[in-house]
Amino acid sequence: MEKECPVEIGVVFEGERVRRDDMYVELGGIKVPNKAELVRCKSVDEVEDGKVIIKGLDIKDMEEGSQHPFGILVEVAGEQVEPDLEAVIERRIHDFSNYVEGFMHVNQRYDIWCRLSKKSYQKGLDSFRYLGEALTRLFKAELPIIEKMQVTFMTDEADVKPFMEEAKKIYEARDARARALSDDDVEEFYGCVLCQSFAPTHVCVITPDRISLCGAINWFDGRAAARVDPKGPNFRVEKGELLDKENFEYSGINEVVKEKSLGENERFWLHTMFGYPHTSCGCFEAIAFFIPEVEGIGIAHRNYQGETVIGVPFVTLATQTGGGKQLDGFLGIAIEYMRSPKFFQTDGGWDRIVWMPQSIKEQVKDAIPENLYDKIATEEITTSINELKQFLQDNDHPVVKLWTAKKEEPGEVMEAEELEVIPVGAGGGLGGVRIILKNARIHADKMIIRRK
Ligand SMILES: [Zn+2]
Repeated sequence: MEKECPVEIGVVFEGERVRRDDMYVELGGIKVPNKAELVRCKSVDEVEDGKVIIKGLDIKDMEEGSQHPFGILVEVAGEQVEPDLEAVIERRIHDFSNYVEGFMHVNQRYDIWCRLSKKSYQKGLDSFRYLGEALTRLFKAELPIIEKMQVTFMTDEADVKPFMEEAKKIYEARDARARALSDDDVEEFYGCVLCQSFAPTHVCVITPDRISLCGAINWFDGRAAARVDPKGPNFRVEKGELLDKENFEYSGINEVVKEKSLGENERFWLHTMFGYPHTSCGCFEAIAFFIPEVEGIGIAHRNYQGETVIGVPFVTLATQTGGGKQLDGFLGIAIEYMRSPKFFQTDGGWDRIVWMPQSIKEQVKDAIPENLYDKIATEEITTSINELKQFLQDNDHPVVKLWTAKKEEPGEVMEAEELEVIPVGAGGGLGGVRIILKNARIHADKMIIRRK
């Protein structure tokens, strides 16, 4: 008989991080170009239940402290298992593999980053077989519609590279399907609280025009998940009444946000980074940050390792942005959201975007209005705000008009019926206050308060 899993498995290990000094091996992650995870639905006779296939080095053959390309292919079958569920099952690899003591899984799709702790290796977790068996058991218990499941782990570049290429085509097909639909075409949205183990007040609202901020779950995926597991982390959100057309505020979203954030947040504005923006867990693919000096929005993505134009790298922005807080001017987003026709529509959309790393600019080139492409700065042009200001002026970027508009209205009076001052980000991240002026017409971006 084969050996039982040598480490414990349970939800208690979900929030556990494996630090560099404690890690035995690293799989995927920022230093490794090839990594991906994918779920495929198969017919019942194509899947051998419980089988774990290992292509390339197994854990026991890896050197301590080493990094490896990493692919996880999960094949599932069952009478009710349909391709619509692939993305949702795929997203659950994240929480289920984190249930394994000493195993850490971060991110999704082509961005996965995993670590195994020395402690768990010493306890005997020296093969992917244990991980595959644990995943199969957890998936079948949580989603009984899965009748058969097999898992393939890949650690050889020669296998992972083509696997990743193939997976990217499948992710693109999923995203393309959702692009054909708009928020106005549907009666309901979907919610995701999968990340509440890390960010207890975070709620992701998934609409046709807004994919989850991790980039892994679109509206169709949310719908499929809520159908098979309505009490699970993905659920239906009634649109309710459109309370505010400009800010895309829906009564149904507000109700769900209030309930699922345990009263921490009460309102969401769907397509803006100001006022009542979405919260951010920690899995965002990119962060949008407001740059008050130029009235514009900068974007940096997870794989960008340099300094952003506001003088800090992505990791610093990430600690400010994550954790389920509602923050004016900082928002975690999916890269796919940049392709949405409602991308920051309340704030002016692409006309407000002033800076982003070159690699992401190339990746979303098809979504950037042609007349704007050369007006958006990158790290190759500058990482200084003063130079950015000059660049925007020289290139007649649309935000420049906002500067002039301001100059022409000196001493603008803002009237409000009520003034509300709320401390935000206490105890870490961005310290400061958020000021809300009730029943007043002002631009929220005038209210940004940044820590010196
Ligand atoms: Zn998340």
